[in-house]
Amino acid sequence: MESIQAIKGMNDILPGQIEWWQRVEREARRILEDFGYREIRTPVVEKLELFSRGIGESTDVVEKEMYAFPDRKGEWLALRPEATASVVRAYIQHNLQADAVAQKFYAIGPMFRHERPQKGRYRQFHQIDAEVFGTDDPMLDAEIMYMLRLYLERLGLSGVVLHVNSLGCPECRKSYRAVLQEFLEQRSEGLCPDCQRRTRTNPLRTLDCKVDRCREALRDAPLLLDSICTDCADHFDRVKSYLELLRTPYEVDPRMVRGLDYYMRTTFEIITDRLGTQNAVGGGGRYNGLVRDLGGPDVPGIGFAIGMERLILLLQQEREETPRRPVAFVAALGDLARQRGFLLVQELREKGIEAEMDYEGRSLKSQMRRADRLGTRHVLILGEEELKRDEIQLRDMADKSQAVVPLDSVTDTLSKIYGR
Ligand code: AMP
Repeated sequence: MESIQAIKGMNDILPGQIEWWQRVEREARRILEDFGYREIRTPVVEKLELFSRGIGESTDVVEKEMYAFPDRKGEWLALRPEATASVVRAYIQHNLQADAVAQKFYAIGPMFRHERPQKGRYRQFHQIDAEVFGTDDPMLDAEIMYMLRLYLERLGLSGVVLHVNSLGCPECRKSYRAVLQEFLEQRSEGLCPDCQRRTRTNPLRTLDCKVDRCREALRDAPLLLDSICTDCADHFDRVKSYLELLRTPYEVDPRMVRGLDYYMRTTFEIITDRLGTQNAVGGGGRYNGLVRDLGGPDVPGIGFAIGMERLILLLQQEREETPRRPVAFVAALGDLARQRGFLLVQELREKGIEAEMDYEGRSLKSQMRRADRLGTRHVLILGEEELKRDEIQLRDMADKSQAVVPLDSVTDTLSKIYGR
């Protein structure tokens, strides 16, 4: 019978790979919680309207990439394409503004976008997402980027650059939009069909179009950063000076617009040149009007998302092996020894040592082969002779040395070696 395959662009994460995911998540939780963020888990499915209102009707994400479907009663739902809108919805719904402690949130989980799959771009992908509500202070903008730098450093990732920009406020954007539209109309013939359409619907998006002729046509386009209002310019100057204070290198990238409509003022991306066209590992920015636009109080907000697949691809390029915890293997021969060995495996596990045995009663040779394949650090060999003497052979697989150890104390001996 023909076997069933996973959906294109949606990947299994298998043992051997999962260790990377666990490490990336563990470090993320640690740093986020040190910075005062608390985890929030929201449903993977929401009402479609949340995303069309929250992200913007004329964004690629909503227009082209959303997994939207009517449920059995005909209500339109969608798989979440990002986390911010859901976190904002939860914030409003549970009146979290009234909670003095919980204003910083993080979420880790799968997102869904119907994009063309390629390296670093999938239809189900995962994000580490963080959101902060209630402060407009540029110190916070800088602190978030600093935290990202620290996180990537702890993971040992190098060769990424922090790009920052300011998209101004809706007021500065309104006048700029008209200027840019006029510029685009003059060059309309040189633009790709998408950008011709964007000229009317969402002109800012033309600025980061990847099509060569659009890039060429937009080379001397007027820049939003040159025309933001004094308040926005002051905010941006302060973000930059705090980044310097926190020794966080950055590059100003006046062409970065980000894909989602809700951003204003500070936006940023972590950029790499090692993943082909998928050059953003993570990004974020301010969204001061979003909570209000989704029916909540008028509180400012800022957040970011890191793509876990891209982050892990980059980490794997730098280091081949995932660090594995040591494993002990108990090789026992004969019925009584096998029983004692079975117990010993559980004793080791109780001590927090990963331990394995062979349940099938195979020969010592084949047990040793299996231990080798498992990448075992120590093999504990127990035959009837050893059992009689209350001893066990402890074999170090790295240097092949072997020692006889009292059976009662072998667990403690390994505990010490493994630091458990
Ligand atoms: P965005 O929400 O579009 O700003 O994306 C934030 C981050 O999520 C990006 O920088 C990527 O690392 C990651 N990301 C976005 N879309 C995808 C995708 N289709 N596949 C894999 N990662 C993605």
